[in-house]
Amino acid sequence: MEVISLKPRSYCKGVVLAIRKALETKAQNPDKTVSVLGKIVHNQYVVDALEKKGIHTIDRPGLSREELLDLVPPGIVIFTAHGISQSVYRKAQVLGLEIVDATCPEVAFTQNLVKEKLAQGYEVLYIGRKGHPEAVGVCRDKPGVHLLENAEDVSELAAQEGDFQNRPIFVTNQTTLSVLNIQSVFDAIKNYYPQAEIMNEICHATRIRQEAVQKAGDMDLDILLVMGDPSSNNTKMLADIGRKEGIPQVYRVESVEDLDLNWFHKNSRVGVTAGASTPPYLIKQLEDYLEQVDLDCPGPLPQVNLDLLLEL
Ligand code: SF4
Repeated sequence: MEVISLKPRSYCKGVVLAIRKALETKAQNPDKTVSVLGKIVHNQYVVDALEKKGIHTIDRPGLSREELLDLVPPGIVIFTAHGISQSVYRKAQVLGLEIVDATCPEVAFTQNLVKEKLAQGYEVLYIGRKGHPEAVGVCRDKPGVHLLENAEDVSELAAQEGDFQNRPIFVTNQTTLSVLNIQSVFDAIKNYYPQAEIMNEICHATRIRQEAVQKAGDMDLDILLVMGDPSSNNTKMLADIGRKEGIPQVYRVESVEDLDLNWFHKNSRVGVTAGASTPPYLIKQLEDYLEQVDLDCPGPLPQVNLDLLLEL
């Protein structure tokens, strides 16, 4: 079997900064309770490894960041790389929590851009996933920002808000969207609102990871393994791109423990990529295993060691 590492993949700068901040905060405050509001990155292994270090994740399905704040014990609260709305920030202050803000600089840039455009009188159309913490952080408390997921949402908005034709419109987006899908939404917006100013804010890290998978379409791969948590948006995008590129088998796995050896044969050409929230340790463990596995007599799959997982 030939294992081909697609690069770049795995942690981006924003994720490294956020995890480092969390570890430093706990190291500097060993006697205080340190909590992360939501998952620091969309990866359960990282959440579990942080818990082992005494850094608690406050997360419940269906609860907003604002609601989760009510569950944070006194001490330090860390805001994740996805960013946070002003109302959550203020509520944390009112609750008397010490705040460590690990918002990725790329997300903060988009948040500030949206604020500036609103102050200048624009209607802002923000393309993102409903309920995603980054999109919520940008759109919450801002009546002039309209969250759109796809071209159908643009048609609906146009039907409801006919007078936008005469308004200044600014368009931007969540940083982790697909380079393949976003253009159709931009085109739909331009169709209704030719005056719209568009600033594509898919971040550099997301873009170059997706481009690496696009190029893999010419590598004659039999299989593409995309490693990452099921909840990771940028991991999902990488798998979608692999399928669109025509790679015959595309599988999403969280770790080496998810492999099914029936997928492979001795001459398989296997590409490996990973979302920006996937720890490098998990990828190396999977690649090392695939490079040496004897498919006739494979033995048990290796297990993830959480003690090694937070190495950056
Ligand atoms: S994916 Fe982009 S925006 Fe998100 S944390 Fe990484 S660098 Fe920042």
